Amino acid sequence: MNKITNHMPTAQLQALDAAHHMHPFSTQNDFATRGARVITSARGVFLRDSEGQEILDAMAGLWCVNVGYGREELVEAAARQMRELPYYNTFFMTTHIPAIALAAKLAELAPGDLNHVFFAGSGSEANDTNIRMVRTYWAEKGQPERNVIIARWNGYHGSSMGSGSLGGMVGIHSQGGLPIPDILHIGQPHWWAEGGEMSPEEFGLMRARELEEKILEVGPERVGAFIAEPVQGAGGVIIPPDSYWPEIQRIVDKYGILLIADEVICGFGRTGNWFGSQTLDIRPHIMTIAKGLSSGYQPIGGSIVCDEVAGVLAACEFNHGYTYSGHPVAAAVALENLRILEEERIVETVHDETAPYLKQKFESLADHPMVGEARIVGMMGSIALTPDKAARAKFKADAGTVGYITRERCFANNLIMRHVYDRMIVSPPLVISKSEIDLLIQRAWQSLDEAMAQVKAEGLW
Ligand code: PMP
Repeated sequence: MNKITNHMPTAQLQALDAAHHMHPFSTQNDFATRGARVITSARGVFLRDSEGQEILDAMAGLWCVNVGYGREELVEAAARQMRELPYYNTFFMTTHIPAIALAAKLAELAPGDLNHVFFAGSGSEANDTNIRMVRTYWAEKGQPERNVIIARWNGYHGSSMGSGSLGGMVGIHSQGGLPIPDILHIGQPHWWAEGGEMSPEEFGLMRARELEEKILEVGPERVGAFIAEPVQGAGGVIIPPDSYWPEIQRIVDKYGILLIADEVICGFGRTGNWFGSQTLDIRPHIMTIAKGLSSGYQPIGGSIVCDEVAGVLAACEFNHGYTYSGHPVAAAVALENLRILEEERIVETVHDETAPYLKQKFESLADHPMVGEARIVGMMGSIALTPDKAARAKFKADAGTVGYITRERCFANNLIMRHVYDRMIVSPPLVISKSEIDLLIQRAWQSLDEAMAQVKAEGLW
């Protein structure tokens, strides 16, 4: 076989891909019939494909390339670390400089007394850690019956057995025997889709109080933790009503259960502060991190843990860990990524300048006839597609059909936006400039126009 390079014709690359590469969250047969778009390189906020097209990546990969593509410092950090020490573990009374430095740096950045880091290779792995850590914590405290972890429908925490169980995605639960026992779910604070006649504030309170109802139903002595994303990401960028989080915080405090904030998307500047917990004003005992931790340049995740939980665990042997926990190259790259975020004041620039600019432009999409609401916090936002704004109505098609059509129009217009059912999402690299934001909005508007014409032509309106 010829060496596979980006000089090969696209069709040949697509055929090889369809034949041998099994894609995540995809219908594999689609790749044989349609062929994947082959991404070959990237700079800043733009991807380039095998046909030489430049695509504005308004999703920062999978919500992760916070500092943008093409940062040489990260390449250098990886190369330096590979020369020095490409791999070593931290299991058996050993450690290494990148893991020490990254853990110490995260303890400095994280709020409150979140001073301890357990590393993983991804967000899913970190949430699996959290399940075992929380249950071990309570067992060590003499309360092994506190096994129940409450999470939310339409939350996303990963796709492994544990993290997929924490998530509330029915598509994930329907395959492979999830959820695992003692993971329970409550409703999400998704006013647009589920709020009915209630005001957003009333609805937010009602959804938060489902946590208290669930705790009382199970028995407070059995509940170990509640996990949630400060702002749901993969569920459709659901920004909760203002009433929601204060009530959740009140309830977890009242019953003394642990709060796990899944910061995999919200962390590292995405919401305009270092962590979503700061933006939403919550006090977690554990934060799940990944994605923006290394801006996606290396696979790394982890759990940042408070003094109390880490203190209790410190006395026992926690029989848990991954070959790549604290991988030195990934840790060195993450550390360099944090240096860039800090020294270039990227989080502050998002907070003070670019996110307010994006908010103003993004919210103007609500003037489009097919857009019901446009909501954004920091650099994560979504629009709801609807044929009738006032009624928050659905299309004459299965949920997601119009979202898919719109995503395909965006793709054809060299803009990557994702759809979750009939919501369109943006989460661009945090370094996006104002003129790039203008381009994003212009392409989004054009794609909405084209999608609306298609939806009407197909009788789906
Ligand atoms: N938690 C959240 C909030 C996520 O958005 C994701 C990934 N989209 C995960 C966990 C899982 O992370 P990973 O894909 O790295 O396993």
